[in-house]
Amino acid sequence: MSRVVVVGAGPAGLAAAWAAASVGASVLLVDSGVAVGGQYRRQSGLRAARTPVHPLIEWLPETSVWAVESMAGGHRVRLQTGAADSPGRTMSTVDTDALVIATGAYDRVLPFPGWDLPGVYTAGAAQALAKGQGVSVGRRVVVGGTGPFLLPVARSLVEVGAGVAEVLEANGIGGSWGWRRDPLGALGKVGELAGYGVMLARRRVPVRFGAAVVAAHGESRVEAVTVARLDAGWRVVAGSERVVEVDAVCLGFGFTAQLELAVSAGCRIEDGAVVVDPAQRTSVAGVFAAGEVTGIAGAGPAAAEGTVAGYAAAARVGRTVAVPRDAVRTVRAGRRFGRALAAAYPVRSGWRDWVSADTVVCRCEEVRMSDLCAAVAQGALGMRAVKLVSRAGLGLCQGRICGRIVGELTGTPFTQNRPIAVPVRLRDLAAVEDEEEN
Ligand SMILES: Cc1cc2nc3c(=O)[nH]c(=O)nc-3n(C[C@H](O)[C@H](O)[C@H](O)COP(=O)(O)OP(=O)(O)OC[C@H]3O[C@@H](n4cnc5c(N)ncnc54)[C@H](O)[C@@H]3O)c2cc1C
Repeated sequence: MSRVVVVGAGPAGLAAAWAAASVGASVLLVDSGVAVGGQYRRQSGLRAARTPVHPLIEWLPETSVWAVESMAGGHRVRLQTGAADSPGRTMSTVDTDALVIATGAYDRVLPFPGWDLPGVYTAGAAQALAKGQGVSVGRRVVVGGTGPFLLPVARSLVEVGAGVAEVLEANGIGGSWGWRRDPLGALGKVGELAGYGVMLARRRVPVRFGAAVVAAHGESRVEAVTVARLDAGWRVVAGSERVVEVDAVCLGFGFTAQLELAVSAGCRIEDGAVVVDPAQRTSVAGVFAAGEVTGIAGAGPAAAEGTVAGYAAAARVGRTVAVPRDAVRTVRAGRRFGRALAAAYPVRSGWRDWVSADTVVCRCEEVRMSDLCAAVAQGALGMRAVKLVSRAGLGLCQGRICGRIVGELTGTPFTQNRPIAVPVRLRDLAAVEDEEEN
């Protein structure tokens, strides 16, 4: 009987591994991190997630899946094990009839003049440093973007000793009208959000709606930012700009699902997420997806999807099980919540006006907006051509940060087609080839 392979040990992957093992399936759980928990349970100490101790679960930490290939009746999963970017990492493969992709999401950021200065962080990075290591990204920080995630980030910064100058939500208070799609889900979150609000109010941290950081200034790092009021379409309200002195900025405009493995497995993707049926099956037989890869809704729904995917994957390898109804209900409620969240915190197109001709758009390759315009003027059509002509997205992050931005600025559909999902040294790739030839 084939093992269930679960990629990602965040709330979704952990729940999938546990569900599959609980009905007798043997499970291999892999994550590129050193510990389980994913982005949500990154804390050390008591609040950290526990490694699943189950005789049927094999846990492989510090292991990245760099490719998924389809083969007769299943999939070949290619792994690399060892500390990030260290020499001597080992390459291996595992074949499976039931693959659960639970690779989560990463921060979405938007560019503006000066966003490439040291001291500008994604909100997720600031949160990871604060929660994982108790480190603050700065002494006086502005937190900006859109979405409820900004509030826990501000709280974590305060908890590790940072002075949070202000929190800027780009959507106006009227944006919360989007919650009418799921009033019950919204009600469930009111207490948590109110808790953050009270804590920030006690520390005299202002939370402003309809405002954003539209420029960062400094010689060798951020020394100040320009904050402006925005209209409903996120265009700057003329005359509303003011300069705030800070030594760090944290920005988050929601999340982008991490789709590389799902794309290379051939799964159907719609609106930036893997399409799944009620049993978390993707369009490809034997491949399941759970958590933020299927849509952004938070840790609770991600775990519920993981449970359903785990049972479905176990059924695929011969364990007949009925999926618990409460997990299915939680998944349905999570999808509703995710739709309401997206409606309440949209990213409006006016941000494109924050970008000037010499704003860096791709930070790895230092490609500016003027370079993108030149590429389009030369007739570059499609993401591949724009990349090749301008070099945007060809650097270390392989377009994870700038790909979506470049797509929106040039009107080109954005895809996460990266056959090698994580950075792999050429020497290690060559070793795989040699092994397969022998
Ligand atoms: C940076 C960041 C910080 C966040 N902080 C908070 C927070 O403080 N509070 C909160 O409520 N929500 C937070 N969120 C949102 C929250 O993390 C999600 O709602 C929840 O974790 C989603 O669970 P998941 O299992 O789908 O994905 P994740 O928790 O993201 O887990 C995905 C896992 O997959 C692994 N992975 C990805 N690709 C590969 C690969 N190729 N090979 C091997 N492993 C791989 C990753 O290392 C990760 O551990 C954060 C999100 C991000 C991106």
